[in-house]
Amino acid sequence: MHVAIIGAGIIGLSTAFELRSRGCEVTVIDPDPGQGASRAAAGMLAPAAETTWGHGILHELLGASNQAYPDFVQRIEQATGRRPDYLQNATLVVAAEPADRDALHELVQLQTSLGFSAQTLLPSAARRLEPALASNIAGAVRCAGDHQIDPRSVVAILAGHLDAQLVREPAVELLQRAGTTHAVRTGSGRIIEADQVVLAAGLGTVAGTPELPLRPVYGDIFRLQGPAGPRLLTHTVRGIVRRDPVYLVPRADGSLVLGASSREDGNEAVNIGQMHKLLDNARRLVPGIVDCSLNEVIARARPGTPDDRPLIGRLDDGMVLSTGYSRHGVLLTPFGSSLTADLVLSQPPHAEHARAVDPARFSGGSAPDPAGLSRAEPSRTDPSRLAPTRMELHP
Ligand SMILES: Cc1cc2nc3c(=O)[nH]c(=O)nc-3n(C[C@H](O)[C@H](O)[C@H](O)COP(=O)(O)OP(=O)(O)OC[C@H]3O[C@@H](n4cnc5c(N)ncnc54)[C@H](O)[C@@H]3O)c2cc1C
Repeated sequence: MHVAIIGAGIIGLSTAFELRSRGCEVTVIDPDPGQGASRAAAGMLAPAAETTWGHGILHELLGASNQAYPDFVQRIEQATGRRPDYLQNATLVVAAEPADRDALHELVQLQTSLGFSAQTLLPSAARRLEPALASNIAGAVRCAGDHQIDPRSVVAILAGHLDAQLVREPAVELLQRAGTTHAVRTGSGRIIEADQVVLAAGLGTVAGTPELPLRPVYGDIFRLQGPAGPRLLTHTVRGIVRRDPVYLVPRADGSLVLGASSREDGNEAVNIGQMHKLLDNARRLVPGIVDCSLNEVIARARPGTPDDRPLIGRLDDGMVLSTGYSRHGVLLTPFGSSLTADLVLSQPPHAEHARAVDPARFSGGSAPDPAGLSRAEPSRTDPSRLAPTRMELHP
């Protein structure tokens, strides 16, 4: 089977990798591989620390994908001979002020009720683990199962591995015959025929796709070089500073990622006010960051959906959608690439998980049972039903 994948972010590339390992031929179409949201992402794999009330089954998907990571990394290493920068280094969630401790208590309650590992620490115990933390932090929680990966390493390794299959052009149109997608037209006019097409273009659009309930949620983020000598931090530190979130993700090479804002102002450029706030809050938690040097500041848009869950499902007998990974796309990569491959190959997916991410959930009716759908059946999602029916803003 030949599958054309539109988009070479972490989702498109991992899906191509998954499909190839299941015996498919793939073509990946992208004018600028890896330069979308995946370029900016910190790569926190933090289902426990990112827990919030009201996420429902999303917790389960995040936890399942996190558990799949070691195998995902190992399979990439076996196939390519290169290992992504994956660190199982745990996460500390730190309250800066006494008033932020309430948020920490609520988080621990929720984490415990969902079965995540969460250990409450006195400030002194947190500082023994991370001596660079400020002496006046108010409390901390250690999430032993929350790890991290450098998404740029995944993208570079997979883009290199799939280089011969990459078409560095935009996809401009989906071609359909009797309602079934059978080919993609690229910017140069080339027609790429395929048995199946996967749309994994993040926020990107292609003529012939239905309107999707996606919106850009911009994030500003820094990359810093830590001071010479011992690493400033060893755990990922997620802070709550006067109710605002901030995080520092230490890489094995001594660099740090400091992020991230969340704004829906439509502005693609880096926002100075957000940068200032992030630096100020990070310094409140880890004063030594002032000794770092600046490597990079960038802004990218997360492909946001109304309920933060991705949109993964069949759109017609020749096409599967895999986008809308919002703020969890790196963490959800093993889950999303595997489910997308199941749908492409008409292999029965985990029915409850597939239903949770089915694009048809925004249609107003109940999503059909994905396990019962095969390519032989008529299209399970009427594209006209995909227009947004509700829009919730993130905090
Ligand atoms: C600041 C920031 C921090 C983040 N931190 C984390 C984190 O710590 N953990 C986590 O799990 N997630 C994080 N995320 C979210 C994560 O980055 C996204 O969910 C994920 O990268 C989405 O991947 P994607 O491949 O779907 O999209 P993208 O990476 O945006 O890739 C889409 C690709 O499609 C291509 N494309 C678009 N249109 C077309 C077209 N017409 N034809 C061909 N190609 C096209 C683009 O060029 C691009 O390469 C963060 C995001 C941001 C912005």
